[in-house]
Amino acid sequence: MPAHVKQKIAGWGGWPRVECAVFRPEKRRGIADVLANGEQPHYIARGLGRSYGDVAVNPGGGVINTTRLNRMIAFDENAGVLECEAGVSLEEILETFVPRGWFLPVTPGTKFVTVGGAIANDVHGKNHHIDGTFGEHVDRITLLTPTGSIITCSPKQNEDVFWATVGGIGLTGIILTATIRLQRITSAYIKVDYRQCTNLDALLAAIRETDDKYKYSVAWVDCIAKGAKLGRSVLMSGDHVAANELPSQYGHALSIPHKSKKNVPFNLPGFLLNPLSIGAFNKLFYAVHPSKQGQITDYDKYFYPLDAIHNWNRGYGKNGFAQYQATFPHDGVEGLVKLLEKLSASGRASFLAVLKRMGPGSKGLLSHPIDGWTLTLDIPVKDGIVQFLNESDELVAQYNGRLYTAKDSCTRPEVFAAMYPRIKEFKAIKAKLDPAGKLSSRLARRCGIVEGPVEP
Ligand SMILES: Cc1cc2nc3c(=O)[nH]c(=O)nc-3n(C[C@H](O)[C@H](O)[C@H](O)COP(=O)(O)OP(=O)(O)OC[C@H]3O[C@@H](n4cnc5c(N)ncnc54)[C@H](O)[C@@H]3O)c2cc1C
Repeated sequence: MPAHVKQKIAGWGGWPRVECAVFRPEKRRGIADVLANGEQPHYIARGLGRSYGDVAVNPGGGVINTTRLNRMIAFDENAGVLECEAGVSLEEILETFVPRGWFLPVTPGTKFVTVGGAIANDVHGKNHHIDGTFGEHVDRITLLTPTGSIITCSPKQNEDVFWATVGGIGLTGIILTATIRLQRITSAYIKVDYRQCTNLDALLAAIRETDDKYKYSVAWVDCIAKGAKLGRSVLMSGDHVAANELPSQYGHALSIPHKSKKNVPFNLPGFLLNPLSIGAFNKLFYAVHPSKQGQITDYDKYFYPLDAIHNWNRGYGKNGFAQYQATFPHDGVEGLVKLLEKLSASGRASFLAVLKRMGPGSKGLLSHPIDGWTLTLDIPVKDGIVQFLNESDELVAQYNGRLYTAKDSCTRPEVFAAMYPRIKEFKAIKAKLDPAGKLSSRLARRCGIVEGPVEP
């Protein structure tokens, strides 16, 4: 049997933490060996474990860590097309290609994500309203199916497999390699306009008015504020700076200063994050971000502020936290308001709350984004959290919204099916690729995407 360790693992939120048999093959053929000879009832791939909930954990089964598959295979310098193994991280791509004038087409709020993880969750970034999801910039995938065959799929070849795999949360096969299109840049800097908004109405109006003028846009929201101040926020909109616009004090346009990273060495006591401390942080954040235009910042600070602190998730204490991302269609703003009111009244303060306007969704059958508004919250795990999240799910479903698999830890099957109406098409393709049901995860069983008990 291929080498493995029995280990308790969790997503980035630290909750739920469950025992799995973790394999870490070094080569692509090692993955096929695990699937054939690993002696586990089922398996799920795992990248850098930056999904918050249980999408990359598999109690009672195997987890295939893909981070050793981190080889770059080919790069077309003229077109910016990169072929690489699925375990290559976005950080590695940035370090290699920013100095050569290329940037990721889409990036989430952390660079510690693998290409396989970015495809399997069809991740989005601050430019979703302009450029869509990560999967929409993928030209080709090679997929190892659970039966041991390798399929090449793309938007033109085996199209059904491609769009089931983009956003398919690892359930169609193990992505071995991917070919992605990078975007040209002439500097590593972003020009940001900040705009303070006194409440949610003002924020939505500002986004509607300005979003199309910027490539990137996202708002930080103070979700402790109540009443007339509900949704008090700072909208941050940005564009790449052209090299010839960059003031000379920044030095070489395609390199950024090296930063030393801070670390949270152990779980902090959970009580440190309470409504009082979070309220104080929120007031400070608002105060230190007055409306101002044309602030130049490097890409690392703009896109990845949390990456500056290693293990920042330990700040929530040993119980961990749930991240909750709900997306409402444009006519579901009332649902968004009710969700913010529910959170603000609950005493379950969220340290981080961001709101963004999303553009149209991708063709991924289980891909999350829909045209509308997305709100992301961090909620510390304490008594009653499952009930609180389940009630929130029903509220989101009532307004035809949906939750994001990369962040989810509680959604029930009937709610998931209502939120993802293409689940039947997905199941049909999965049944063809995986007739013995070898690929599964806690989330897949919990949400009723595959059969089986949630815990062993
Ligand atoms: C600080 C922070 C900010 C974030 N911001 C955003 C954001 O702005 N937008 C956004 O969309 N997401 C965001 N995320 C979530 C993150 O981008 C996704 O969860 C991403 O999928 C994590 O990638 P990973 O490599 O860690 O994969 P994991 O979390 O390890 O796995 C994620 C999924 O990918 C599958 N998978 C991984 N590798 C493969 C493979 N080779 N083949 C098949 N399936 C595979 C797994 O089975 C699982 O279903 C954020 C996360 C953090 C921690």
